[in-house]
Amino acid sequence: MTNNENYQEIKSMMRSKTLHTVCEEARCPNIYECWANRTATFMILGDICTRACRFCAVNTGMPTELDLQEPERVAEAAEKMGLNHCVITSVARDDLKDGGATIFAETIRAMRKRLPLCSVEVLIPDFMGDIDSLKIVMDAKPDILNHNIETVERMSDRVRARAKYPRSMELLRNSKQLQPDIPTKSSIMLGVGEEWDEILQAMDDLRAVDCDILTLGQYLQPSPKHLNVAKYYTPDEFAILKEEGLKRGFSHVESGPLVRSSYHAHEQVKSASKS
Ligand code: SF4
Ligand code: SF4
Repeated sequence: MTNNENYQEIKSMMRSKTLHTVCEEARCPNIYECWANRTATFMILGDICTRACRFCAVNTGMPTELDLQEPERVAEAAEKMGLNHCVITSVARDDLKDGGATIFAETIRAMRKRLPLCSVEVLIPDFMGDIDSLKIVMDAKPDILNHNIETVERMSDRVRARAKYPRSMELLRNSKQLQPDIPTKSSIMLGVGEEWDEILQAMDDLRAVDCDILTLGQYLQPSPKHLNVAKYYTPDEFAILKEEGLKRGFSHVESGPLVRSSYHAHEQVKSASKS
């Protein structure tokens, strides 16, 4: 089967199971490579977000009703795709008491049952800083706990108004304290107006909360009403930043214009477990 036939087949399965992948919905440029490498990112808890970050193309509004069967359907789809690394993420569900943490945990458990060899990474929202919600997720023992700071501290209010840079750092610190053996990961999107030194400072801040894995990618404006791109970084600049990250002690740094949070994620599990 060609890559394209494989892609079309998976795509129609997603429709039939009413599932959403970030790979498709964000029109991620890496989709052929990732799906061929058996990596995919599912978006759970609906496709309408209670927040409206200025860089993000996800719809904002009244979220859909909670779908309690979703964890099982995600696991079933992941099994059919034969995934060896699965990323589970969600919109922010500030309308729910636990922010959707229980559904995250159930999805991890459903994945473990069907695909015991598949590594499971969760890319979680900040749960409004609620540690009980975080604990629900950590108790289900994902292979990687990912939470994106998205940008440097000075730009945070502008880029993702309802999130807070210190709250995100605290979440990463708490994750490590709750489950010291689970690698943590974060991502910075470059090109929204940050300065070079601020990127290095954000790396230092992430290392200060023991974050293990870092991804750096170029911000691309999803539509004219989204935040403008302030700068396009060159491949050389991405390479220098990768070196800066490794110097600071991250076990894995993925850095490049098309890098997204889940890009080459299967390799990150391996390098984090070696560190
Ligand atoms: Fe999907 Fe992430 Fe790969 Fe993009 S980088 S195709 S979102 S798994
Ligand atoms: Fe997009 Fe996440 Fe912000 Fe919601 S919280 S608007 S999904 S980046």
